[in-house]
Amino acid sequence: MIGCTKFDNYRIIFVVSLFTILFFHLPSISTAATEADRQKFQRSIIDYRWQLNSEFKKIKRGETSYIIVHTSELGLNGTLRVISKGKRLPSGRRTHGGHTHYVIARDGRTYRMLDSKYKADHAGLSMWNGETDISKISIGIELVGYHYSPITMHQYRSIGLLIDILQGVYSLSDRAVLTHSQVAYGFPNRWFKKNHRGRKRCAKNFIRTKAGLGPTWFYDPDVQARRLTADPQLAEVFYSRHKIYAKADEANIISKSNTAWSIAGEDYDRQTTVYKFPNSRIYTGDQISEKVGWNRIPPKTIVLLNQETGIELDRNKGPIKTIPDGRTAWSLAGKAYNRRTTIYFLPSGRIKYGSMISNWDDLPVKTKIIIGYRGPFKIQRDRSAYQIAGVRYKDRKTIYYLPTQKLLAGNNIRDFNDLPSGTLVFLPIS
Ligand SMILES: [Zn+2]
Repeated sequence: MIGCTKFDNYRIIFVVSLFTILFFHLPSISTAATEADRQKFQRSIIDYRWQLNSEFKKIKRGETSYIIVHTSELGLNGTLRVISKGKRLPSGRRTHGGHTHYVIARDGRTYRMLDSKYKADHAGLSMWNGETDISKISIGIELVGYHYSPITMHQYRSIGLLIDILQGVYSLSDRAVLTHSQVAYGFPNRWFKKNHRGRKRCAKNFIRTKAGLGPTWFYDPDVQARRLTADPQLAEVFYSRHKIYAKADEANIISKSNTAWSIAGEDYDRQTTVYKFPNSRIYTGDQISEKVGWNRIPPKTIVLLNQETGIELDRNKGPIKTIPDGRTAWSLAGKAYNRRTTIYFLPSGRIKYGSMISNWDDLPVKTKIIIGYRGPFKIQRDRSAYQIAGVRYKDRKTIYYLPTQKLLAGNNIRDFNDLPSGTLVFLPIS
């Protein structure tokens, strides 16, 4: 500035150096990563490109302006399959895969799904700052997990390094990193009269600072320019000054502020979206309008995305649940998955408490789960089922684990005198 006094100059120098001190002392994973860290990470990336659907058409991307973060709303195997091979749309049409460039598992392991120079079909109907079809100008990263279950520290570390590397290659700032839920939009529906945000909830639980990311957009440019209507809940997550991240693990439970729409987005009425009512009735998204009504879903209903069909669910209604292919412990036990009172019976015969499980995606198919239990109590010659469980020894909620690795509910045992010594009993907590 012309006419600056010497005093002003000193002040400017002071402010600049203060800024420098603050800036370089911000805790940040990406700035703390060394070249060696980046190289080690890059070498660790698993090549999964060979699994890509052969019908996927590779088209080079002309421009790279954004990195879009997603949560896959599936376990690892389901994620890898859908992204490389494709998925069935509600219309019945099948896509050809190529749905992202990178996948990051719960343990931080990173998969390269498609060369980053090609366009991946990951953002769908999308808009940012007036530009549409964001897939054409962006790189997609899928975090394995649900938008209502916390992202792991391993994932934050990997995505921090990956973003750091991509930012170097494509000269992108931290503002270029957005979530799918920020850029997706939808056409009018029963909740919105105009084009609107909220079609996707993807990665709304992504905490930027944990990935070493700095400043970002503090407003939605398309809402501000009135091209789109805001989604109130997403606006609060991304643009309000009071961060509501803490509530993330309650985020799939219906309440006054948490509607079917704010949990499931465009998938609210799909057959694969499951509503578990507090009275333990189960409905799929396509049944709600006729059997319940969208305004009549009771509070505390749990909403689960990408679930199997009703038959599969019925089988899992009792106290003993089984992990079928393509499902995770989270989809059966929710945030109770790692509690001491959630008990896992592995196909290998091992029994594990939830507190011993670090990753809900690591459990083998056919693992059985009981939720809200204590035990085991061992049946011995001088200790009968009745002595352990009292009058409820025949109850369907009292669970017996036989030395043959069979799990049985109390009401399914014909003769208690036949129970072999060494049978373990598990009792419900309440
Ligand atoms: Zn997404």
